[in-house]
Amino acid sequence: MQADSSCVLCHGGQESHFHLFFECPFSALVWLQVREKCEVPPLDWDLASEIQWGVFHCRTKSIQATTFKLCLLTSIYYLWRERNSKIFRQISSDSSSVVNLIMGEINECVCSWRRMVQSSKNSRFCAK
Ligand SMILES: [Zn+2]
Repeated sequence: MQADSSCVLCHGGQESHFHLFFECPFSALVWLQVREKCEVPPLDWDLASEIQWGVFHCRTKSIQATTFKLCLLTSIYYLWRERNSKIFRQISSDSSSVVNLIMGEINECVCSWRRMVQSSKNSRFCAK
């Protein structure tokens, strides 16, 4: 018996870490929506290139750099969690639901930062 190795998120590609985080249309849609909500500038590249850009340009501890890393890492975590939920619990969510979970986590994290400057630019993260 051969296990089905197709991606459970898009049903269109062979599952691999590379596909799940860099090629999958479902993951790309989630990342696009999170990026827009966090106002991370669009780079018009593929996700792998954006991650390379982020790693190179976000070595500082500025709010913008930290926000980019938080958005990226939270997105990766929730995409992995969504994948596992579909496989092991047969529960699936649409991309908007995954984005809402990611933004909830980001809001909680950012609002807990003691040095977060309360400004109109940062208010999008703390809006309840
Ligand atoms: Zn996929």
